[in-house]
This record gives sequence, C-alpha cells and structure tokens, in this order.
Amino acid sequence: MSDYHNNEFLGFGTCAPPNIIPESLYSYMFFPPIKSKNGTPVAAPYGLRKVEAMLLKEGISVATVSPDAVDKYVQDAKVIGIHVMDPFGLGPASSTFAALFKKEPYLAIYFKNLLGRLAVHRTKANNVKVVVGGPGAWQFQYRLKFVEDYMIDCVVEGEGETVLGQVFRDLLKGETVPRHFKVGPERAPSLEQIPDIVNPSVNGLVEIGRGCCRHCEFCNVTLRPLRWFPKEKIMREMRVNMAGGVRSCCLHAEDVLLYGSRNTLPDEQRLIELHEMVMKRTESLSWSHCSLAAVQANPKLVAKISEIVRARQAWWGAEIGIETGSARLARKIMPAKAHPFRAEEWPEVVRSAMGVLHDNLLVPACTLIVGLPEETEDDILKTMELIDDLRGMRSLIVPLYFVPLGKLTSEDWFHHAEMSDLHKQLLFLCAEHDFRWMRELIDWSVGGQWYGRFLSILMQVFGVLAKKKARQLEVSVLK
Ligand code: SF4
Repeated sequence: MSDYHNNEFLGFGTCAPPNIIPESLYSYMFFPPIKSKNGTPVAAPYGLRKVEAMLLKEGISVATVSPDAVDKYVQDAKVIGIHVMDPFGLGPASSTFAALFKKEPYLAIYFKNLLGRLAVHRTKANNVKVVVGGPGAWQFQYRLKFVEDYMIDCVVEGEGETVLGQVFRDLLKGETVPRHFKVGPERAPSLEQIPDIVNPSVNGLVEIGRGCCRHCEFCNVTLRPLRWFPKEKIMREMRVNMAGGVRSCCLHAEDVLLYGSRNTLPDEQRLIELHEMVMKRTESLSWSHCSLAAVQANPKLVAKISEIVRARQAWWGAEIGIETGSARLARKIMPAKAHPFRAEEWPEVVRSAMGVLHDNLLVPACTLIVGLPEETEDDILKTMELIDDLRGMRSLIVPLYFVPLGKLTSEDWFHHAEMSDLHKQLLFLCAEHDFRWMRELIDWSVGGQWYGRFLSILMQVFGVLAKKKARQLEVSVLK
C-alpha cells in the first residue's frame, strides 16, 4: 500500500523484480509504504475504500489497516478482506518484466509475504476468515493450490457492491460461501448501489464512471455495462479526500475524455464543467486513462482542458493503450478502438493524437501488446514503424506480453520462449524511446516534493544503469 510519491506512474516500479538496486532503496524510490497512524493508513486503494463504505452501509464494523499492521489487528478480526491489484505478477506489465529478468516481481513477493504472515496467526489462534478481491482477483483461477494452501475462504471477482454484504455476513455467521465468486454483468450495481467512499483514497483517486463502450476483445472491462457518475457524486468523494488531507485528484475511468458521453465523441460541455469544478479544488490533477481516438475526435477540446489544468500545474499524465501499429490486427481484435474513425485508420489516429498530447503537455504512459493471437511479422514491423514515428513525442511506451483476458480467455498466454528477433527489436526500440524521455519525465514527476532533488538524482542514476544494461543486452541478443 503506497502512494508512489503522489505519482501513479511510479507504481509501475512494483511490477519489476529485485534488481541492481538494494530492495530498501528501490522500495523507497518507487513504493514507500503509505503513512499510517496506529496502523490506520492516511489513504487506501480506492477499491478497498469502496468495500469499506459498502460494509459500513451494511452495518458491519470495519477497520481499514495497512498491510504492515495486519499482525496487530488479526487477533480481533473475524474476517479479513484483502485488496489485490496483481497478486501473482501475472498482469501484463509484471509478467513481461518477470519473463525478461527471470525473477518474480516485487508485488508477487510482497503478497506472498503478507499471506504467509496471516497464515501463522490463523493456525495459532482464531478462526478468522479471508476474502480476496480487487482488479487482480482473476489471477486466482490460475493459482488454485495457493488458495488451498493459504486457506483463502472466498475470492470475489468483478464488481462487488451487490454481493459483498452477503459474503461477509455469511462468513461472520460461520456459513460457507463459494470459494470463487465471479460477479457477472447481470449483477453489476446501478449508480444508486455504488456508495461514496468515506475515507481518503490513494492519490485522491475518484471514479467518474465504469465500463467502456469500445469492446476490445482482450479486455476484461469490456464485459461491464457503461455508467457515468454525476458531478455531485464526484464532488462528494473529492471532499472526503480533501477533508482527510489528500489534496491531489486522479480522475478514474477507462476513458476520461468520454465522461458523460453515450457514444465515442467527447461531450465538450460536461468535460469543461468537470475540469473547472475539479481544478478549483485540487492542488494537482491526473487522469487514470483516456483514448487516443477521443483525443483525435476533438483536439481543440484537449487544448481547452489543457488550459484549465495548466492554470494550476505544468503538465498531467494518463495511461493510454496503443496496443498495435497494425491496421489489420486493430480491425480484428479492437474494431471500435479507433471510433469515430475507421479501424484501418488506427495507426494514423495514434500518430496525430500523440502529437496533440505532446503539444498540450498531457504525458501518456502507453502500452503495446506483444504476441496477440494471429500476430504476423508484418504486424510487428508496422508497430515498429509506428514507434519510430513517435520518437519526438514526450511519452513512455511499455510493451506487454499478451495475457488472455476478456473475450480471449481461451487463447494461449504469450511466452517469453516465443519471442522472435523482431519482437526483441521491438522491445529495444521501446526501451530506447523511454530512455530518450526518461530524464525529463523523472524531473517532472518528483520535482514537486521537498526531497524531489534527491529522489530525482537517485532515479537518474538508476536510469543510467538500466540504460547501460539494456544496451549490453541489445548488443548480445541481436548479434
Ligand atoms: S482496452 Fe481500453 S478501450 Fe479497449 S475495451 Fe478495454 S478499456 Fe475500453
């Protein structure tokens, strides 16, 4: 549980395995433990705050504690709920790092460590139950033995609002619950069933909507219905964060630029109103995600939002999926990703929209998918051409191995052993791109903290070492 120095981008550091930097220094640089008082964190992951609010609404007594303080609270607990983002390092970013460095990533090591500590207490004393949920809950279907060994009573996968009260009440009564509870779209909560958080979320993250209308085949989100939250609800949650001393705000949706829209065209008025409202109150803003198609659909709107945001801060960031530079593959697996443009126009949409972001100081952390089903050499070459064209655009580009999710769960995982020479060249091309922009982005990311200079130097040194290592690897691999 960390706020990553108030910067969600740095959270990517948890996906790496132990490396040249000693663990204590590395964790200080990328994921220092969240500040807490008697084990109560000043802020907690947003999903955990939703569960807390939901259980309080159901009349259940709840304490949210940091992982370091679990040992202290476990004796008095009846049920322990654990929020997981990527518990086994099977997510696209961490599984790619793990394959490249042939080691388990930090987030998987820390999760196992937490469960190990819990197991000690559980055999000694009470009959405390364990429930696990969160965005990474899907990974437990690949680790059934772990669920058994660590005595996990229930894994809740999907949106929990309509089922969590029942699960916790049944466990408190000593009744059995399903080991794996998959919440389908038919049980997705309505707006009224989603409670407001009652305590601050990490980095002031506030959800502005759920679901996505683009239906990319490799994505889990696509299975959920689209709902946008009213401004009043967003404002209430921002007030909770500010009252708890969290003054930043991260607007969260799968595509912030489609806030309030029922199609793939941004709703100009709603977006302007939302950003004027948020920027009056927050000290710094970020977006969780947006789409390049929505940027390109209305570049002037992006400029207007940029003006509102940059009246208070120099830049802001968002995670963005490029996925592929191949129009053929785009048409096949993500036909609506480019909408309102045609799928065939995807590479051009990416080039133009990335230029708009560069000009307006919205810095994207972009992802690519390596090893998509039916990917050909020509598809990889098209992606490499695209990355080459993006060299002048301030961004990070992270290639990720294909993970079978969404409508593609029956497909095979992409394994490191399947890497062709072209795949390797693509990875090195992305690394070169990232190293080109790293210095500036590190300064921008941590410059605002009082210890920013020190942290920035540490990260620059880490960057130089990583760059040297990547170059050595590139020479030996491509020889
Ligand atoms: S990958 Fe992004 S754009 Fe595609 S369905 Fe998922 S959230 Fe929507």
